Amino acid sequence: MAQDWDVVVVGAGVAGLAAARAAAEAGARTCVIDRMGPGGVLMNLSGLHDMPGSPNGIDYASALLDAAMAAGAELAIAEVTALTPGFQIATDDEAHSARAVVLAVGLGNGRLGLAEEDGYEGQGLSHCAACDGPLYAGARVVVAGHDRWAVQEALDLAATVEHVTLVTQGTEPHESAAALGTLPNAAIWPGRVAALAGTGGLDSVSVDGTALPARAIFVLAGRVAPLGFVADASAPGLFLAGDCAPTAVETVPAAEASGAAAGAAAAAFALGKPAG
Ligand SMILES: Cc1cc2nc3c(=O)[nH]c(=O)nc-3n(C[C@H](O)[C@H](O)[C@H](O)COP(=O)(O)OP(=O)(O)OC[C@H]3O[C@@H](n4cnc5c(N)ncnc54)[C@H](O)[C@@H]3O)c2cc1C
Repeated sequence: MAQDWDVVVVGAGVAGLAAARAAAEAGARTCVIDRMGPGGVLMNLSGLHDMPGSPNGIDYASALLDAAMAAGAELAIAEVTALTPGFQIATDDEAHSARAVVLAVGLGNGRLGLAEEDGYEGQGLSHCAACDGPLYAGARVVVAGHDRWAVQEALDLAATVEHVTLVTQGTEPHESAAALGTLPNAAIWPGRVAALAGTGGLDSVSVDGTALPARAIFVLAGRVAPLGFVADASAPGLFLAGDCAPTAVETVPAAEASGAAAGAAAAAFALGKPAG
């Protein structure tokens, strides 16, 4: 039989943990489910930019988890595979049901849309400079993406690699990319990655007919919300929070605030109380 909850939160990143805390604090029996364990993107970030004291991402995730658990929320590690109105929540482990659901699934890993892409995963293709950047100290690397976090990854990598090229995938880069232009070992390329090459690992990245020597490519482009498991995204009682919401600002404070608001709204819906 399905485990029955007032509120289920799908995704235990910043937004999901904030939502779980708010829902539990409002008196809802709350379960937050994540396929990877708690933290989401935070687990890849050594220092959070634009936040007081630049806290470590793992420490920040740990504090959010502690607060959600202290409020009474429960954590389940499973991948949600189907969500149908009612709500019925199927996972690769046990099934759940809930009166209200918060979707806080973030954005998946970046994709280039190339046939050979999956073959280089972990063989030169990465999604995390803090995790894999040290492997390429002294090497030439590429970052594919245009937004502020792609630029930030390129700036961070420039501190240790021989050279980093930001390939913007045909999109105007975030204004912070101007800082890359001041570095002797960084460049911005406005084209698109068309092919990856190398045997037993990456050797080069082809952009606009030019093969750029590269031992690694960090793919931040093409991140989309993984919402394919949702049968009806407009069902009453369903709330979106964090980076997967259409109007997301894509920062930690914004994800935390939207998660808290969605968790409170979901609890109010589930318990039949007015929101706020
Ligand atoms: C490289 C990079 C650097 C950044 N640096 C900063 C920074 O310095 N400062 C700042 O303010 N912001 C930064 N950001 C932005 C910030 O990290 C994000 O806006 C925020 O972490 C998003 O949180 P979230 O909870 O919405 O999503 P996520 O953290 O992505 O969490 C989503 C969770 O949902 C889970 N999930 C997805 N699908 C399912 C499913 N079907 N079943 C179960 N679980 C599922 C995932 O496993 C994941 O744990 C950065 C982003 C990136 C990419």
